[in-house]
Amino acid sequence: MLKASLRSHLTLWFAGLSLLTLLSVGFYVGHIATEQMKQASGNALLSTARSAAVLLGEQLRERQLEVYLLSRAPHLERGDLDNPLILRSMQLRTQARTEYAWMGVTDASGQVHQAVNGLLVGQSVQARPWFQAGLRGEYTGDPHEAVLLAKLLPGLPNGEPLRFIDFAAPIRNAEGQVIGVLGAHAHWNWVTRIVESAAMSHKGVAPDIEALIIDHDGKVLYPEALVGQQLAANDPASPGWTAGNGYLTSVVTVPTPSSTALSWSIAVRQPLDTALQPARLLLYKLLLLGVFAAVVFALVAYYLALYLSRPIEQLAHSAKQVQNNQPGAHFALQHPVQEIAQLGQSIDAMTQSLLAKERELQDANASLEATVAQRTAALTQANAELMNLATHDALTGVYNRRRFDEKLTEYSLLFRRTGRPFALLLIDADHFKRINDTHGHAVGDDVLRQLAQLIQLSTRATDFVARYGGEEFAVLLPEIAKPDTPEVVAEKIRTAVADALFPAVGDVTVSIGVGLADPADNHHTALIKRADQQLYQAKAAGRNQVA
Ligand code: GH3
Ligand code: MG
Ligand code: MG
Repeated sequence: MLKASLRSHLTLWFAGLSLLTLLSVGFYVGHIATEQMKQASGNALLSTARSAAVLLGEQLRERQLEVYLLSRAPHLERGDLDNPLILRSMQLRTQARTEYAWMGVTDASGQVHQAVNGLLVGQSVQARPWFQAGLRGEYTGDPHEAVLLAKLLPGLPNGEPLRFIDFAAPIRNAEGQVIGVLGAHAHWNWVTRIVESAAMSHKGVAPDIEALIIDHDGKVLYPEALVGQQLAANDPASPGWTAGNGYLTSVVTVPTPSSTALSWSIAVRQPLDTALQPARLLLYKLLLLGVFAAVVFALVAYYLALYLSRPIEQLAHSAKQVQNNQPGAHFALQHPVQEIAQLGQSIDAMTQSLLAKERELQDANASLEATVAQRTAALTQANAELMNLATHDALTGVYNRRRFDEKLTEYSLLFRRTGRPFALLLIDADHFKRINDTHGHAVGDDVLRQLAQLIQLSTRATDFVARYGGEEFAVLLPEIAKPDTPEVVAEKIRTAVADALFPAVGDVTVSIGVGLADPADNHHTALIKRADQQLYQAKAAGRNQVA
């Protein structure tokens, strides 16, 4: 998962939501505006189409009426198809109305009797649809290209073929029999001009509009470029106009007299792009406004997020500092947002208590370490004392018998390996029983202490002095080279004791037996035995001597 800061989360959400909202509103309003625009433009098209259809209907009815009235002229009713007054009437009409290209009278067989400017006189128009329809009744016909008159009339300035619409009415005699047909050709561009001018008068309200004339089966008659194309009729459900194929179109039927078969419609259409241009402009404006508002919202959101997230970022930073044991962690205790202030206070309180606990722990640790050190020192001392007790004689302070045995074993082993000789002196106080008996046991102890001291003073530091038992001492001499031979050392001890003054006792003497380590000895007891025998010798020889 992508981890983004609180600040960017808040900014993105605010900006996204506001953009979404504004775009939705923009699209909705745009949609409504488009629909209303369609409605308004469709209605404008409908009214344009209606006025064009009404105008054209009136004009057609008028021409039809003229032809009808001419066909009912009294001369014609009497069968006088060649009467010059008829020609005169026709000429007056065609001069007055430039739309007429031709007007003439035929008999019932289709032969032209009279015509304006004498055109087609004497020729047969029997095959022409207008003639055949005219025999049956009043007729207004669809436009067609000039067939017979094409060579007789000047062409159109733009080079297009001459096109006419035909009007015809039957000529009946007094008995009601059809004796001929009065026909007229009107220029098709007269019709189209009527429609164009009606449509153009509305151009101000609806730009880019286009007027079309459509025949009874939906085929386009005008304009020239679209002739023959099929145009969909109005949707019956729609209010007079439809939107489709990129156009907004309104179709209205031209009101024509029921006596004629003519059934045209006028279609007025406008490209949807043009019709909806204002709505589209509005939509663009709204969208632009939406984007602008989203940017403003994003900025506001950013500062709001900054305002909210800064203390939380600070909290996170300080919490990290606490976690990493870095100094300087600071928690803001005041913030306008209640929860943020609360959070700061809580973390601060937690940190304080955490630090206090940590200090307590450190103190406890330190005192524990001190106690341990103290105890260790006491133990070491006790061990040393214990060691001293285990190896030394409590009364005299010299080594005890146990330690002496170990030392003797060690010297014997060393002697056997290196061949370096050593000696043993056994020292026994003379008539000690008597001292005890005379002065008491405590004085005896004092004498023993003083004896030990004298022996130690008479030997070297490397010599080993021990209390062998009772009033007997043993000395191990590792160096027996001259001048300090064992005998010399023993003599020195004996003299020191004999010369010493013992308070409360006076003179005390010792007898000393000397033994030398011998390679032939199997066991160190042999050496003790030899020294003991020498001691016995010394005693036997009268005491206070070395043997
Ligand atoms: P000898 O000259 O033949 O060695 O005669 P002695 O009296 O010294 O020998 P004996 O073995 O008859 O007597 C030793 C005496 O030493 C007996 C005992 O009461 C005394 N004695 C042994 N150990 C101690 C002690 O620790 N303190 C005291 N005060 N006397 C002790
Ligand atoms: Mg003894
Ligand atoms: Mg003795």
